Amino acid sequence: MTDLDVAVIGAGVAGLTTAFRLASAGRRVRVFEAADVVGGRMTTVREDGFLIDTGAEQIPTTGYPQTWSLLGELGIGREQVPRIGRGIALWRGRARPGVASTRGLLTGAGLSVRARLELLRLLRGRFDLERPEDSTHATVAQACRGDLLDYLCQPVVSGFFGWDASRSAIAPFLALLTSIGPASTWRTYRDGMDTLARALAERVDVTTSAPVERVVDDGSSARIFVRGAELSARSVVLAVPAPVVRRVYPEHGSEFIDACSFSVVVKAHLLLDRPLGRRDYVVVVPTAENGTVATIIFDHLKHPGRAPENRGLVTVMAHPSVAAELLGAPDAEVAARLVDAAERLVPGLRAAVGRVVVRRFRHALPEATPRALALRSGFEAGLGGGAVDYAGDWVYLSPCSEAAVRSGVRAARRLARKEERV
Ligand SMILES: Cc1cc2nc3c(=O)[nH]c(=O)nc-3n(C[C@H](O)[C@H](O)[C@H](O)COP(=O)(O)OP(=O)(O)OC[C@H]3O[C@@H](n4cnc5c(N)ncnc54)[C@H](O)[C@@H]3O)c2cc1C
Repeated sequence: MTDLDVAVIGAGVAGLTTAFRLASAGRRVRVFEAADVVGGRMTTVREDGFLIDTGAEQIPTTGYPQTWSLLGELGIGREQVPRIGRGIALWRGRARPGVASTRGLLTGAGLSVRARLELLRLLRGRFDLERPEDSTHATVAQACRGDLLDYLCQPVVSGFFGWDASRSAIAPFLALLTSIGPASTWRTYRDGMDTLARALAERVDVTTSAPVERVVDDGSSARIFVRGAELSARSVVLAVPAPVVRRVYPEHGSEFIDACSFSVVVKAHLLLDRPLGRRDYVVVVPTAENGTVATIIFDHLKHPGRAPENRGLVTVMAHPSVAAELLGAPDAEVAARLVDAAERLVPGLRAAVGRVVVRRFRHALPEATPRALALRSGFEAGLGGGAVDYAGDWVYLSPCSEAAVRSGVRAARRLARKEERV
């Protein structure tokens, strides 16, 4: 008899979804989470009346079927995930509105007419969020050029995913872009982006501050080593980023997992003594315009509850070319570099900053390199056989929380089928 039916490693939305599904089906499941809170890359820090979304920022109304279905099951209605109702701008000398909007295709959002026509041509392909490998394996920088690359695709993939356009394949990005509808329909959780994770965690057995050091596959069962103890389970689900899988389960034997790299993201959340910004809640910044800042998010415009009245919350995300260097830099240095660079885009920012919260993601979003893309479907097809299974956005090479939720639903389904067979 094993200690558990299933041990899930990682309490991000992928692991929590897996656990919730299996616990609902009567399995003895426990989630082990290294951090002292749940949510992983969908976490919200609450401080002095500010709600700081440290990772994910928003979800769309369409294109996230698994997320919306799960929210429905948990009794989280759309009123708890209100529309943001504001747009995304691109910086080209000034903020140009209309990115990810149909109107932007007409008005340009800073893009030349030729680039807009090239974009329409690019979007005519067929893209599948679940099977990104079925479309082109070209990188973002190979698939588009000129204005379309420099003033739309590069700033968007760097600004939202921390991607280097010359490393990541364009297919997962286009699959997402064509499925999620215009920015005007996007939403954010009223009470913070950790709402889903918190709701799931209330319904499953989660142990926080429990970093799993090692997973051993014994064939018909597996063991985990955590906080000096050893536990056995009929199955283990590794719901941690692929590079963490490589560390805790070095015997994984998967070329895909070895190829699955992540972007690095460093963010400075600026707690302001006044609200700045007026219209768009995100400004993406092309490399050609500023090599230090990739994105500026006006969180208090995203949702008024993110900052106390008459205060402001602005997030500055570092450009991918400086993110790796900032990973190891002290908070004060990160804050100073990002505030100085952003001041040129948001005059008055420096003077309004009170406190700064710096957040670093060594494993921010799956990079979806062409090599990983080529190996993905083979990896997925082989899942479900042994005592160790996987969940996480990286299983689909898709830089979004819907992929994480979907991976959790599918992992739970594979495990249920496996149990039926024994
Ligand atoms: C900056 C940023 C912005 C984003 N913006 C959006 C957005 O706007 N919309 C959207 O849909 N998606 C967005 N995403 C993507 C989304 O956040 C992720 O796809 C999703 O949260 C991934 O969930 P996961 O469960 O796969 O992984 P994670 O959330 O990374 O969960 C893995 C968990 O495992 C834990 N862990 C790691 N090692 C161990 C160990 N040894 N033992 C135990 N636990 C361990 C971690 O602490 C973590 O909690 C964004 C991501 C980032 C980083």
